[in-house]
Amino acid sequence: MKNRPFNEEFKSENPKTVLYNLPKDVIYCKNCLMSNQRPDTTAEHYNKTDQNKKTIKFYDDQICYACKWSTKKDDIDWEKREFELKELCDKFRSRNGSYDVVVPGSGGKDSFYASHILKTKYNMNPITCTFSPHIYTEWGKKNFYNWINAGFSNYLFTADNRIHRIITRIALENILHPFQPWVLGHMNFPIKFAKLMKIPFMMYGDNSAEFGTSHDTNDSNLTSNLFTCKNIDEIFISGYPVNKLKKDLKLTDAELDPYIPITNEDFKKAKIKYCTLSYFIKWSNQNNYYYTIENSENFTLSSERTSGTYTKHQSIDDKLDDLHYYTTLIKFGIGRAVYDAANDIRCGDITIEEGKNLINKYHLEYPKRFMIELCEYLTINPNQTKNIKNFIKSPIFTEDYFNELCDKFRSPHIWKYENNGWKLRNPII
Ligand SMILES: [Zn+2]
Repeated sequence: MKNRPFNEEFKSENPKTVLYNLPKDVIYCKNCLMSNQRPDTTAEHYNKTDQNKKTIKFYDDQICYACKWSTKKDDIDWEKREFELKELCDKFRSRNGSYDVVVPGSGGKDSFYASHILKTKYNMNPITCTFSPHIYTEWGKKNFYNWINAGFSNYLFTADNRIHRIITRIALENILHPFQPWVLGHMNFPIKFAKLMKIPFMMYGDNSAEFGTSHDTNDSNLTSNLFTCKNIDEIFISGYPVNKLKKDLKLTDAELDPYIPITNEDFKKAKIKYCTLSYFIKWSNQNNYYYTIENSENFTLSSERTSGTYTKHQSIDDKLDDLHYYTTLIKFGIGRAVYDAANDIRCGDITIEEGKNLINKYHLEYPKRFMIELCEYLTINPNQTKNIKNFIKSPIFTEDYFNELCDKFRSPHIWKYENNGWKLRNPII
């Protein structure tokens, strides 16, 4: 996005500008409080600066897709689905005990549950794989080793940190999406790893319908367009065409490889069956959490409440997470507590009233706790990277600069500027 001067619309009662093609009227799900401004899950490698967002589905009764799906779960014949899982495992199980299924993840409760149940209940021989976080939190790292200690081999892929930091910084500056390079790696690495290992079976944990984005829940596969592309030359990283980054920053194919999806053609040739366990087994965050506690020795919650929310156990591996959720608040008006409360309300862990109180208490919270370390991480040495100045305003990253950047990505239909401060036009009341 080009620099947008602060405009009078932010002070007006009736702003006309709506960024990212979001719905003009902000609506919250009557059941779980999720906002209709939430973008749907799409292939990250086609995310451009001018891209209009497709948002999650809302029905006429102001109920979101995830809530409709969670009521439909009761009508599913789960015994029949489990039988399908057993048949699949029988088809792919190795006869000599070699690895026969790849389980991607971080060692959090969902990937722990998926790998452990495949190994102990369905007699599979999983190998787990992980695309490393930017900066591990202390508890994220403990849980990663807790996973391995519970009886799993793991391939940890750690991307070239010079390049990873550069494109993370550019993604923050260009599309206010600092997590994008990690999402690209996390989506694209496991399938390439399975191909490399010649293991034709992959099992993810949950599909995106579990958290509200449109996924065909009658399909056992993860949507393949999330990690495949027609042609590598057509993809975007950090909002820029991949060839522009390569040419202007003088990057090699190898340096950008972790972020590049597999082509449709190569994917077809590899003949990998890729499923989500939540299709076969009724998925519950709470169940996975208790299962992980019971079946491992050292699974830990974060030692402190996560910034922007009330929870200690959701998505806690990476220090950069705090910035990521703050940027979703800036762009879509959805802070981290909204995501957590919506999930917890749907699972019946908290009531809608409790959800409202928790959201109002926490979701506007500024990500202060790791800010100094994150500013160092996002500061780029210009001597190491020629032409970096064409992509970022200044090599040094500061908190003031982060705030300045955030303001450029606010949409007037979501934010109002009043009494020298920002407020949401339509908070959850
Ligand atoms: Zn809902």
